Amino acid sequence: MKLTINGIYRSPNRSKTHPGTVSSSANIQADNVGKVNDHLKKLLDNFRPDLKPYEEIYRQIHKYPELSGQEEQTAKIAFDHLHTLGFEVHPNVGGHGVAAVFHNGPGPNILLRADMDALPLEEKTGLPYASTRTVKDAQGNRFPVMHACGHDTHVASLMAASTLLHAARDHWSGTIICIFQPAEEALGGARAMLDDGLYEKVPKPDLVLAQHVTRMRAGTVNLRAGRLLTAADAFEVRIFGRGGHGSAPQTTIDPIVIGASIVMKLQTIVSREVTPGELAVVTCGSIHAGNSSNVIPDHLDLQFSVRTFDKEVRKRVHAAIHRIVEAECLAGGAVEKPIVKLTSSCPATINDEETVDALRETFHSYFQDQLVDMERPSASEDFTLLATEAGAPYVMWMFGGIDENTWDDAVEKGTVNELPMNHSPFFAPKIEPTLRTGVDAFALGALTFLQRK
Ligand SMILES: [Zn+2]
Ligand SMILES: [Zn+2]
Repeated sequence: MKLTINGIYRSPNRSKTHPGTVSSSANIQADNVGKVNDHLKKLLDNFRPDLKPYEEIYRQIHKYPELSGQEEQTAKIAFDHLHTLGFEVHPNVGGHGVAAVFHNGPGPNILLRADMDALPLEEKTGLPYASTRTVKDAQGNRFPVMHACGHDTHVASLMAASTLLHAARDHWSGTIICIFQPAEEALGGARAMLDDGLYEKVPKPDLVLAQHVTRMRAGTVNLRAGRLLTAADAFEVRIFGRGGHGSAPQTTIDPIVIGASIVMKLQTIVSREVTPGELAVVTCGSIHAGNSSNVIPDHLDLQFSVRTFDKEVRKRVHAAIHRIVEAECLAGGAVEKPIVKLTSSCPATINDEETVDALRETFHSYFQDQLVDMERPSASEDFTLLATEAGAPYVMWMFGGIDENTWDDAVEKGTVNELPMNHSPFFAPKIEPTLRTGVDAFALGALTFLQRK
């Protein structure tokens, strides 16, 4: 087996136009790979900071979760840390986003991304550091907040990984960009950072790496080439009818009947228009019209969510939604054209195969039997925009947070699917070895591609 390398480590760069790229590459034999991996393991062991303070930071962030777009305190913790380390740090990028850069000589620009936001959920983990926080919405209603997706783990991991990489700076060359991204759950934070001129503040990356803690055994890591997470699109639709008395339907145009037809007809998109075996989901998650049994309302609102992998399938599903909504309105005699609005949109996460191959070498050598297979998660992510905007490849890997004994018991009983998943009020990653795994994976991911010094 041969590896294409840059310096000693494989370069993720495809194009020679990226700044900082060393264009000379060579092939080395697999026996050298072992030496490279030994060297990386030593760097991790020698330069990993004491993780106790980061465990405390984790508890602190977990106890004080902040919703999408409100990540002020979390961002401050990340900013202060990277600033103290000596990174060039840009606060308030696209909201509370933090972008930190460490230039360390020639070599590729590697971007590491952690998301910071929590969810509107009441925590039921019973942990001593559980969140009891509530926040008010614009109407003055209070609701609870919880780090139910583990983004607190991502923040603490990236903070410690940046300390490790900084401490090991005499042994690698290149540039590290650490991004603490706001509003991932709303799938708008990456776009907001880009629109706020992220790549005028920090160099464009040659490679983007991200990770997510999930329902896997603590200490394990999963790397998958190709399709990982689906594209997610949300639609808001308004159907206009003509309101009137419930006893005189002949004088009205009933938007509820039109809406009901739309919801039923939508079911034919996946079953009749998408190639069997190709992934597509169309869900109507909200339908609202009227307030009374004897009044025919004058409009109806619908909300749809769409999940796909393939760009062509995505296009086809979107076109079908427009066609069905418009045609059903026409069929129902609606006097006004419906409004069909795409309210949020994020592309699929398709991990770059060559980058995964390179990572698999170093991850397998370091994590050994802790590098495991898992079912493909059903979720969506927006960090890929940070890569596609720069024309760079990207990879996201998953790592486990479930207590080892709890996991092993569940495997034995066949009840793994009953363990708390991300977004559950019981989701509670075991701090160690979860944090250390996140720190090591981030550092190892970057070092796989940075040049050896
Ligand atoms: Zn989430
Ligand atoms: Zn998440």
